[in-house]
Amino acid sequence: MNALAATSRNFRQAARILNLDSKLEKSLLIPFREIKVECTIPKDDGSLVSYIGFRVQHDNARGPMKGGIRYHPEVDPDEVNALAQLMTWKTAVADIPYGGAKGGIGCTPKDLTKIFAHEQTMAWILDEYSKFHGHSPAIVTGKPIDLGGSLGREAATGRGVVYATKALLDEHGKSIKDLTFAIQGFGNVGSWAGRLLHEQGGKVVAVSDITGGVKNPNGLDIPSLLKHKEDTGSLKNFSGGDDMQAEDLLGQECDVLIPCALGGVLNRENAQDVRAKFIIEAANHPTDPEADEILSKKGVIVLPDIYANSGGVTVSYFEWVQNIQGFMWDEEKVNKELKKYMTRAFLNIKNMCQTHNCDLRMGAFTLGVNRVARATMLRGWEA
Ligand code: NAD
Repeated sequence: MNALAATSRNFRQAARILNLDSKLEKSLLIPFREIKVECTIPKDDGSLVSYIGFRVQHDNARGPMKGGIRYHPEVDPDEVNALAQLMTWKTAVADIPYGGAKGGIGCTPKDLTKIFAHEQTMAWILDEYSKFHGHSPAIVTGKPIDLGGSLGREAATGRGVVYATKALLDEHGKSIKDLTFAIQGFGNVGSWAGRLLHEQGGKVVAVSDITGGVKNPNGLDIPSLLKHKEDTGSLKNFSGGDDMQAEDLLGQECDVLIPCALGGVLNRENAQDVRAKFIIEAANHPTDPEADEILSKKGVIVLPDIYANSGGVTVSYFEWVQNIQGFMWDEEKVNKELKKYMTRAFLNIKNMCQTHNCDLRMGAFTLGVNRVARATMLRGWEA
């Protein structure tokens, strides 16, 4: 099932639980606007190359339509649409005053010659917009600190994942320091989540990325592993663990599995192999609905993406607030506010789970969809 079908299915289920008017349901599912652009530019060797870009603006009932840009050679409009929809529910779950959107550009970032750090592209967007409208730092988030970025933004998604994990474990009477963790993906989100779990005494027993995997049942020394990756560009041949196949990560023996790489990684082919008791969805839509059913039957508790990875957009919101205020917060304040937002959202989700007798995914979806539906009706929507 592709990402759009899976996301729409979750939305429809939430709409049924909430007993949403069928016309409102349809209206909330259809994106507000979809744009496709093509841009032809000269390469360094003088030849021309064309890139396709998509932007889907899904919903703005609760505020400006917010969402990042995915740079991938196989980016497709359906996937961007699904991610835009997820952003609408995610910003509502976090209770930040935004709607949802997403962009995609069909390219292979590593083949491009200019430095392709995310913050650099945000600086270019700021510059281009400001040329026409005057200096406008609040127009884009994830900027370099020198241009109005927020302290703590780089770590925010991984940090939010750890706050979310703590909230879930507290609920089950468990603690990070007593548990083992397996992390798929060791980029921005995975490496920050790993580092913070390790700092809090959690045992990270397996990690994988595109280069391979590494495991150690006694716990990997995450700072040393980060250094090894920085020095060699790979997780392979790390002296503090044994190499393993990246595809074996999802079935590793651990208490908590954290997918931090790609969508659709847990499906009907492999869900049965999961040995973790908890899954924290740090990636967007890592679990398809068929896997959800299998995991639920196995008693695995899944903390859904629209909550678990909302730390990034929440600190983007803080960045926007700081830009509008013209006042920079220190990192301590950013992290403290992030913890407050993540903890409050978890309690709100649990309330929905109790009210509607549903799992955490439907608790989060009903929370987000209900907030967007309420805002839409208050703004004058009539059937
Ligand atoms: P990233 O590009 O920094 O890291 C991705 C990691 O996944 C890399 O380590 C890469 O090697 C690894 N990977 C790729 N294919 C793999 C495979 N087949 N097996 C194992 N590892 C593989 O990206 P990121 O910013 O860390 O984002 C990771 C996920 O989190 C994505 O799904 C993204 O949409 C989601 N997310 C990110 C943010 C954010 O603020 N960065 C916010 C919300 C959600």
